[in-house]
Amino acid sequence: MNVLLASSEVHPFSKTGGLADMVGALGKALARAGHEARIVTPLYRGISGRFPQMRREDWYFDLPLGDRRVQASLWSLETEKGLMVYFIEQPDFFDRASLYHENNTSYADNAERFVFLAKCVTHLARYLPWRPDLVHVHDWQTALVPALLLQQRAAGWGNPPPTCLTIHNLAYQGIFPPRAFALTDLPLELFTIEGAEFYGHLNCLKAGIVLADVLTTVSPRYAREITTEEFGHGLDGLLRRRQKQLFGILNGVDYDEWNPAHDPFLARPYSATRLAGKTVCKLALQKEVGLPEGRDVPLFGTISRLAEQKGVDLQLGALEEMLNTNMQFVLLGSGSSAYERGYAELARRFPARVAARVNYDEGLAHRIEAASDFYIMPSRFEPSGLNQMYSLRYGAIPIVRATGGLDDSVVDFTENTTHANGIKFYEYSARALAKAIRKALVLYQQPELLRQFQHNAMKTVFSWEQTVQEYLKAYELARGLRKGSFPF
Ligand code: ADP
Repeated sequence: MNVLLASSEVHPFSKTGGLADMVGALGKALARAGHEARIVTPLYRGISGRFPQMRREDWYFDLPLGDRRVQASLWSLETEKGLMVYFIEQPDFFDRASLYHENNTSYADNAERFVFLAKCVTHLARYLPWRPDLVHVHDWQTALVPALLLQQRAAGWGNPPPTCLTIHNLAYQGIFPPRAFALTDLPLELFTIEGAEFYGHLNCLKAGIVLADVLTTVSPRYAREITTEEFGHGLDGLLRRRQKQLFGILNGVDYDEWNPAHDPFLARPYSATRLAGKTVCKLALQKEVGLPEGRDVPLFGTISRLAEQKGVDLQLGALEEMLNTNMQFVLLGSGSSAYERGYAELARRFPARVAARVNYDEGLAHRIEAASDFYIMPSRFEPSGLNQMYSLRYGAIPIVRATGGLDDSVVDFTENTTHANGIKFYEYSARALAKAIRKALVLYQQPELLRQFQHNAMKTVFSWEQTVQEYLKAYELARGLRKGSFPF
């Protein structure tokens, strides 16, 4: 199958979160399963310097964007057999310090930037000599593509390819003032509550939910959760209507990137059967972040966007309660400045117990996974979550709140004594998390049981070979359901 993927971020070129990891890994997995995948993404600042092998294509975009036209060029890079990445070069839109925002403020022209990206994707789907059998878009930034493809049909193109939209996080919908709708150049009939309108505004994700042939999200439990009012962010009614075409497919892990046996970022490699290296990694990290070095003190880690979704308030509260015990905690994260200050403050008050690194650092993320005995992820909601899966492979026992993909990927002792690989808690409160941390401390005192947890964790596999088969099933269904025209 020829699959055209589109995403506003793709690892290893650009990344702010799990979306980038997932799209990069899905592209590889499709190619390795014998299909042909091409990914369209923006050429952000710095990418061409890091990947000088990329080629300029003989291709030029000149597309309408409301009352003006915008030009762009195209670059490409074949990253492996069967996988090509296309980069949209539009310096005014994409050559910036960051992907979506600076100093916690979204770029004022995000509607222009990503409507334009969606138009480029649609243009490529229509005009590339390589014909996609399916177009797979991700999150709000490319969710207008299904509508734009149907518009192309109305403009005389034969049958547009069927579409699949993956919702990586329903909390981000791409909502803009009504005048932004003009940028899409879509028929006005689409700007109704049956279409792209949401309380008088343009809602890019909603347009995709209405018009994509199939919908997926990144874990089975989150697929159920988003059809409820509690997790639906105002779109649960619409999602309930599309429930038959909505599938939860748990993300896989790219074990080329996340494998402690071959991880160039680590002081010493290790595996489930050769765990000595993990202790070396622990001592090295303590040194790196300025904590007292000691192999026997339980080390907890967290790597996260510091957003409300991630349960930061709850974690700050629980740590406050627990830091009088013998433990260490390392945070790597950035986001809301109030949360950043919260951790910095904790590190200042407990210098021998807490280290907080408020930035984005890929190598350090790997080293924290390798060094930690436990990994804390107390999310309020979590579509899939990747770090708990990385933690399992790195033998850092995950402590998670049982929601979304966290619930789907971690096994608590109370669920299965033989296969337990982590600790779950349910209530969204600092007290419940503190209790889970206390359980971890008790586990730490029982080396044999801890070893069993670690062994189970490191053996847990979330393979993309399996996951990609589920996407292929969804693609087949999309081909059967193909809309072909606006349902209005
Ligand atoms: P989300 O996509 O909601 O942010 P996920 O757990 O699905 O959460 O994915 C987060 C990804 O981003 C992981 O690969 C994680 O290691 C990475 N990450 C998050 N914050 C940082 C940071 N400050 N430095 C390095 N990597 C980070």
